[in-house]
Amino acid sequence: MSAIMSNFKDLILPPQLESAVAAMGYQTPTPIQAQAIPVALTNRDIIGCAQTGTGKTAAFCIPMIARLLKTPRRNSLILVPTRELAVQIEEVLVKLTKSCKEMETVLIIGGVAMSPQVKVLWKKPRIVVATPGRLLDHLRRGNISLSTTEVLVLDEADRMLDMGFAPQLNEILRFLPKSRQTMLFSATLPPDILKLAAKYLKDPVRVTVGPVSEPIELIKQSVVKTTGATKNNTLVDELNARKGSVLIFARTKKRTDRVAKFLSECGYKASRIHGDRSQKQRGDAIDGFRDGKFRILVATDIAARGIDIAHIAHVINYDLPMVPEDYIHRIGRTARAGAEGQALSLLTPEDSMQWRDISKLLAKKEAAKARTTI
Ligand code: AMP
Repeated sequence: MSAIMSNFKDLILPPQLESAVAAMGYQTPTPIQAQAIPVALTNRDIIGCAQTGTGKTAAFCIPMIARLLKTPRRNSLILVPTRELAVQIEEVLVKLTKSCKEMETVLIIGGVAMSPQVKVLWKKPRIVVATPGRLLDHLRRGNISLSTTEVLVLDEADRMLDMGFAPQLNEILRFLPKSRQTMLFSATLPPDILKLAAKYLKDPVRVTVGPVSEPIELIKQSVVKTTGATKNNTLVDELNARKGSVLIFARTKKRTDRVAKFLSECGYKASRIHGDRSQKQRGDAIDGFRDGKFRILVATDIAARGIDIAHIAHVINYDLPMVPEDYIHRIGRTARAGAEGQALSLLTPEDSMQWRDISKLLAKKEAAKARTTI
């Protein structure tokens, strides 16, 4: 197995793909990307256990495009359960293939007219992102051939089965060549998914990133009310009352700089990461935090994605995240590997709407968990 990559530059990607990845602002691979991309680049089949929000789209799109660039007359097919997901994936593909010649992507989804899709299919697009029902319609009418499909992705496979797509999948798979690379991604791996994988994948490598909500029981979550004007003082009080390493999240790059500067001036050993810092500065900050040279790391959400540090004792939301899902990502940075952790959010009166949305999401996750454990 190749070593886990810590930077996209460690991969020898075709230059037009490497520059597209950089233009998207991706520097550090997320854990699922670090695990899946090097394996997929060796043409192995993959069964990936990861949810949306983990960076799984790029985890399969990057190696898929790299392969298509090497085999000009071959194609790939991405099958997904919903139109929304298809659209999201297409957006990522458009960005990644920006500088790749003749690498058009088409969306084959239901709910829109067939005829414009027929027209684009005649041009033999290199990448098809499809929902099973509509793709099957086209296959049955002879509008598309899948005989040159070299890479197949089954994304959110568990949802496809939940939505009753198993018969369509089986029928579609009969149109594909046996010799191909198949990557299956799913948020969970129940027996029916493993059965599907056994049927359609060859000696797959399993890559897993735990569901982001998994460690929640081990995390002591709390909030403290403050105001914009007193937030820094509240932060200092909380830092003094706690022991161990602290990851602090701020909303913007500027605020990240400001909080880190303030803490350094107060005598704390604090470092910072965000998208405007060079790869070297980010690397030094993370290494220093990991080694204990800095007790505190201040970060934006994007910069913190993909960093994996085992010993974080506290996560402090200096600012609440804009997207409720990010709250779960953030607090999941503590309580790693079965350890206990603490997550604190500093709430100002202006945060009440955002906090309500986060609380709703947490309640929904709890309810879903209760349903699956009954
Ligand atoms: P996904 O799980 O594929 O839906 O991705 C979740 C979000 O993470 C999307 O907004 C992506 O643009 C973003 N993302 C994916 N990979 C990276 C990366 N390596 N660095 C920063 N952001 C990323």
